[in-house]
Amino acid sequence: MSLRPTVDFLLYDWLDAPALNARERFSDHSRETFDAVLDTCERIAREKYAPFNRVVDTQEPHFDGEKVILPQATHEAQKAYAASGMLGAAQDYEVGGMQLPYTVEAAANAFFAMASVSIGSGMLTTGNANLLMAHGTEAQKQVFALNEFSGRFSGTMCLSEPQAGSSLSDVSTRAVPDGTDFENDPLGPRYRLKGNKMWISAGEHELTENIVHLVLAKIPDADGKLVPGTRGISLFIVPKKMVNAEGALTGARNDVALAGLNHKCGWRGTTNTLLNFGEGLYPVNGESGAVGYLVGQPGKGLHCMFHMMNEARIGVGMAATMLGMAGYHASLDYAKNRPQGRPMGPAGKDPAQAPVRIIEHADVKRMLLAQKAYCEGALALELYCARLVDEQHTADAATADDARLLLEVLTPIAKSWPSEWCLEANSLAIQIHGGYGYTRDFPVEQYWRDNRLNMIHEGTHGIQAMDLLGRKVLMEGGKGLSLLAGRINDTLQRAIHIPEFAAHANALSQALAQVGAATKAAWATGEPTDALANAVPYMQAFGHTVLAWIWLDVALAAQAAPASNARTGRLAAMRFFFHYELPKIGAWLQVVSQRDQTCAAVPEEAF
Ligand SMILES: Cc1cc2nc3c(=O)[nH]c(=O)nc-3n(C[C@H](O)[C@H](O)[C@H](O)COP(=O)(O)OP(=O)(O)OC[C@H]3O[C@@H](n4cnc5c(N)ncnc54)[C@H](O)[C@@H]3O)c2cc1C
Repeated sequence: MSLRPTVDFLLYDWLDAPALNARERFSDHSRETFDAVLDTCERIAREKYAPFNRVVDTQEPHFDGEKVILPQATHEAQKAYAASGMLGAAQDYEVGGMQLPYTVEAAANAFFAMASVSIGSGMLTTGNANLLMAHGTEAQKQVFALNEFSGRFSGTMCLSEPQAGSSLSDVSTRAVPDGTDFENDPLGPRYRLKGNKMWISAGEHELTENIVHLVLAKIPDADGKLVPGTRGISLFIVPKKMVNAEGALTGARNDVALAGLNHKCGWRGTTNTLLNFGEGLYPVNGESGAVGYLVGQPGKGLHCMFHMMNEARIGVGMAATMLGMAGYHASLDYAKNRPQGRPMGPAGKDPAQAPVRIIEHADVKRMLLAQKAYCEGALALELYCARLVDEQHTADAATADDARLLLEVLTPIAKSWPSEWCLEANSLAIQIHGGYGYTRDFPVEQYWRDNRLNMIHEGTHGIQAMDLLGRKVLMEGGKGLSLLAGRINDTLQRAIHIPEFAAHANALSQALAQVGAATKAAWATGEPTDALANAVPYMQAFGHTVLAWIWLDVALAAQAAPASNARTGRLAAMRFFFHYELPKIGAWLQVVSQRDQTCAAVPEEAF
């Protein structure tokens, strides 16, 4: 079973991606160039990623005392990915990019996430380099970003510390000016950093010539104290190996040392590291302290990081989606081949009959349809958000601003909804396999383990929910929420006149009203402790309403297509979502509207 028809349908029949080619930036593109990118990525994913997904799980990265060793397959896969040009696909032609719309880039990367999420397709490297293209100096772009796009260097994001995960205001890595001429370094104001960074993905390996760490750290004030809160956080480029102003390695190591590898539940193909900065293991010019070059203004480090948050979160949502999709395809295949049990007839079961394949049981079909509804719905949502990123960057000013605000509201959903529900899809895929699904002889348990990360990183589920209800739906006078309601209403208006869809349109209209009323009720006292006590149930209901809207909109496009099995399947998945999933929002919103304090008020001693 191939993912491609679903991607093609969503890109071309639903989102009309080639319409983007009317924009000057994309004017050299056509459906043919988009297809060529998709073909290449599909092929590399099939040949260099998928066959090695189990290898990278069983042959975990290990440190031999000098180097981190990864399977040869990871080297080959990442080399092929870099050679495809995908690392810099969105960049300008003049710096070697393809000026590819983000919508197509995201769709093409989906093939890698499905084939082997943990071999990785350079999401961190591209995000790191994109940030430098937006906030770096010319020299920082040339020396670091462009070498990342070419695949010569790779990138990391060093935010978390052992004591500072969700709460980045507690970052305690320090950066002090390096000498009296610190402002005159061609690579940017030069500092010395000391501190520990925890959980750093791809923090140490031999896959590339150099690693470009982007590190959040605080510059102490005149009294040597760190400014409390996020205002004091700055951003630095800290290369693993020192480079000169032309980007050549000088031969010296920077003072960044691997303290240890974390041994993870899943996603094992990517190293995860505790890094010590500036502890003197690799002194630079005889002194301890990791050399770092300031990016942007002091104190504006988080602002720079936020530049890339939307795309990073769409990337996480897409990874969760594709892991769910991998489980769906595997369990569909299994269900079509596994004989077990007899069908229930009017006179009960007939033991003389041959067993049927399990796909013939209604409950197995329920589990398959749930996976299809979660994963194909989530893929549509991610591509819709990717399309908004293109609108934000290339549409006229008013449309671009609407896209920006819509993305603000939708990004917590794009990150969190697939992380929760495509993980549930992985659980259903295991269930369909029965006992075999619980063994390592089948791939579905690995998909679940790999996917379990996504509710944790890039802002945990709880933090995303508080961001949605505490900030996003309120920002700019609630304009983002109104814009979203407007888009949902547009779909309703188109669906309400089609007899087959009228009931669904009404159900969605009611759901939207319920979410609006619950948002007001949550904030009725104006007290964040009242409103946010049930932020996760709010996000679940909000997410399900958004997905119901996406499915109804997708179903409108499916309805317009000629009859086919794919069309029947899409319409069935839409109906599943409305009949089995959307009604759940009532229970979620009840505790939100009542500002239920059952959880918040329970004394610690009562546990
Ligand atoms: C495999 C992996 C890869 C990672 N890669 C990177 C990386 O490349 N770079 C990087 O910088 N970081 C990375 N991280 C770190 C990741 O972003 C953090 O784990 C995450 O931000 C949570 O921080 P924490 O683990 O310290 O958990 P904590 O912040 O201690 O949270 C624990 C629990 O408490 C809840 N909680 C915390 N604060 C609140 C609050 N105020 N209100 C309500 N609930 C709260 C959380 O929701 C969570 O459920 C990675 C993590 C993992 C596991």
